[in-house]
Order: sequence, then structure tokens, then C-alpha cells
Amino acid sequence: MTVNKKVFLFLREAGCCLHCSLRFMRERNPDSYLNIKDFIKERGLEDGGGTDSPGHKVQKCNPCVVCAGLLQHCVDDHTVQEIAAQVGGYDADRFALAVSLPVSLGVRAHALWLHAGERCTAEAGVRDEGDVTALKDVWKWLVAPRLARLLGKEPDGGASCGFTVSVPVAYEDEEEECRPLHQLYRQNGWRSKLRSGGPTRKGTELILKDTDDAVFRKRFPVPPGVPARAVSIRAEGVACQHGSVYLAGRYLKFSRTLSQTPWLIDGERKMKESVEELIAPRVQRAVAAASYKFSSSGREDVDVRTLGRGRPFVLDLLDARRTKLSPRDVRRLEQEINQSTQDVAVRDLQIVPKEQLAELKQGEEEKTKRYVALCVSRDPVTRRALDRLGFVTDLQVMQKMPVRVLHRRPASCRPRVVHSMRAWLVPDDPARDPDDARAGLFKLEVVTQAGTYVKELVHGDFGRTTPSLGALLGDISVDILALDVMAVSLDWPPAVNYDM
Ligand SMILES: [Zn+2]
Repeated sequence: MTVNKKVFLFLREAGCCLHCSLRFMRERNPDSYLNIKDFIKERGLEDGGGTDSPGHKVQKCNPCVVCAGLLQHCVDDHTVQEIAAQVGGYDADRFALAVSLPVSLGVRAHALWLHAGERCTAEAGVRDEGDVTALKDVWKWLVAPRLARLLGKEPDGGASCGFTVSVPVAYEDEEEECRPLHQLYRQNGWRSKLRSGGPTRKGTELILKDTDDAVFRKRFPVPPGVPARAVSIRAEGVACQHGSVYLAGRYLKFSRTLSQTPWLIDGERKMKESVEELIAPRVQRAVAAASYKFSSSGREDVDVRTLGRGRPFVLDLLDARRTKLSPRDVRRLEQEINQSTQDVAVRDLQIVPKEQLAELKQGEEEKTKRYVALCVSRDPVTRRALDRLGFVTDLQVMQKMPVRVLHRRPASCRPRVVHSMRAWLVPDDPARDPDDARAGLFKLEVVTQAGTYVKELVHGDFGRTTPSLGALLGDISVDILALDVMAVSLDWPPAVNYDM
């Protein structure tokens, strides 16, 4: 008799199914499990008349003492079909299969290890309990290929696979069989490892590791007993999840009464709509996502328009069923959004890989923004004074937290750089004497470091921003009537070639 055969028969005698017997012998090749009858025959592992011999009849019918029948009953075509039937509507090409097992199976495996460990160690070269091929893995090896055929998707074990089919396994006697474990928890003050719903799998592992063999043997049958019911284990309640899909683009905002994101104070809406709500729900519908998260490169105030090429933004679309959008689909979506509202427009929409997201936030402080502000001077100002603003380059201003945002952010004082300025009268009047001083309207174009409070730069915010525009113009009083963002100098996402 070969060494392996002795261990194999010992495990079978203890009540292991064929698959679990191989697991405890450290068999790692999925093919061995997929063609288990052939494998056993080739290795000469069968006992006389093989696994159908009269001696094994009783064991054959009983659920396995380790997997409680998971590898006997929950790997059949019916189970696979039932799982497949619950995976609907996802267009992903690949899928990862995940399974969560009852805690009691971990206890049973430990009990069998205590029973068989020495023999396995000596004769099958299995060094410790962690060497036993994982039950999870074997179940997946047996189920994934057939599930793949039914789903028309490639199985993928990689962590990067975006689409996961999770199968929870339920065991009817879970609570009953875990009770001694609960008592152990309580006695040893391991409360932190207990979750309100019962022990976690990770918690069980830790407890089993910390529990003395003699203590374990007092609480649990070693070897583990045959499960009380013939069929007590089921794979049920499949959950599917697609990882995030990212749609990037730029938005323009034409309204002075629109917030960027839903504006709520104490749960009450302050604005009917928002930029986010005019864009995101349509995208969400297009990709059939469960939810979304909106983020952007900075934000503008409710009364500030964003013009030019717009402001970069990204939608993180969670659990999207439809992920294979062609450039034409994306273009159509863009048109749909743009036709649905006068307040907002989107451009350069595109699906982007996760690695590119850092671009949105990276160097946000170093980016520059270009604004145009409509200003009014309360004191007389000359055209010459306005023209002189054109000489401003990289002027450092100190800004204390504006009065209007003090309630939401901690007060601090920070330097910001004004890269350039340009101002002209409204309406422009080149014929006017450059030294003729009058109060009135003018426009200011200003290029600043991101994060500069432009409104405060203009009116000075009660001396909290220094120098202010009024100070630069000779200590006069200036107010701001309207502000537009003209450019956000972030060259991402890349511009889309609309001619294609
Ligand atoms: Zn088994």
C-alpha cells in the first residue's frame, strides 16, 4: 500500500468526502478534483472495489464530516444553474467567484486536523493545518468552469477583476454547532472577536489558534461527527458586484443660482438643483449603476459661472451593469445631458482608468485659474490706474479665511499668488482721458493660484485679504458684482476629438 493510500483511507474512514480527503493530502491541482474518479484510479487509491465498495457505502451517502456536503451537493449542475440564474444583466467579460463559508466548517476542519494531523504530517508531507488545500479554492475550482460556460464569461481569479459573483453558503446547524465556540469566547474574555451576529470567520481562526487542543477536544467531537441532516448545506442568495467605473469630463455652468453639489442645511434643500444632479443621474442610468460619487477639480460658488473649457470632474459609478460604452455611446450621453438643461453643459466625457484619478486632485494647489470679475468702484478711478494692473506679476496676497466661509472651515491665514491682472472700463471708452477719475463699472481678468478667494481679493473682506484690488488701485472702495471662472488650468481629462 502506498503511503498516500494509507492516509487517504484513513481520511475516508474518518468520514471525509473524496474531495476533502484530497484536500487534507495537500493536493493542489484543480484538474485532480475536476476528474477525481480518474485521479483516484490512476493513483491506485481505491480500496478494492474502489469508492463504490460495500465498505464505503455508508460513508458515501453521509454528508462529509468536514465540508458538511458542500463538495458533494453544492457542486452539481443544479447548483451551478441556480447561481447562474441569479447573475443578471452585467456586461462584464470576466468574473471572479467568491464564496463565504459557515464558521462551523472551520471548526470541523480543525477537529479533523487534530484527529488526522499527525498521520498527515508524517505520511503525506502536510506540515501544518495551513497546508491543507482550502475548501473555498476547491469549491471554486469545481464550480467556476461550468458557471463560466453558463454565463458566457471568463473566470478570473485576479484581484483586479472588476466583476465579482459572491456566493454565501448557509449551513442549517451552524448555530447549534457554533455554540461551544461562543462559550469559549465568553470564558476567555474574547468579546472583541465576537460580532453581534455571531463569531466572524477571522475571529474563529484566531480563537482556534489560541485554543489549547485539550480544551478544544472537551468542547467539540474529534474526529468531527457526521452532520445531523442528510442535506443541510446550501449555496443561496448570490450577490453580484461590479467595481467602480470612472467617467471623466468637464462641465460648464451658465447659471448664477446653481450650486455644484446638492446644498443642504440641516437636511433642508437650499437650491432646487445642482450641477451634480443635472449630470450624474443620466450617467447613472446609462450604465445602470447602483450609485455614484461626484468629484471635481475645485468648486465654484453658487453665483459664479464656469465658462471656457469648463471644470474637470469625475463620476465614480458603483456596481455598473453596463460598462462597455463605445465612444459613440458616450457622445450620445453627452448630447442627452446637454439637451436636458440650459444651466449646465458637459464636454470631453470619457471612461478613464482608476490610475488617472490622481490627476484630478494632484497638484490642485499649484494649478492656476483664470477669472473675469465685473467690478464696481465706489470711489473715482482712472483708466491709467486700471491699465497699471497689467504690470502685476506673481503678487503674493495674504488671505484670512473669508467671513462668508468662516462657519464651515477653521480660520487660518494663507498666502496665495496672483499671477497676472488686466482691467478695462465697462463700457470701454478708449477716448476717455486716462487721468479722468470716475466711479463706475470695470472688468478684471485675473489669473491666480488655485484656492485664491477672488471675491475677497476684489473687495478686501474687511481687511482680511491684503493687498486687495482696492488697495492696488490707490486705496479705493471696490465691490464685485459678478464672477466667472474662465479657465481651470488642468489638462485632464484629455480633450476629445469630436470630428472622429
Ligand atoms: Zn468534504
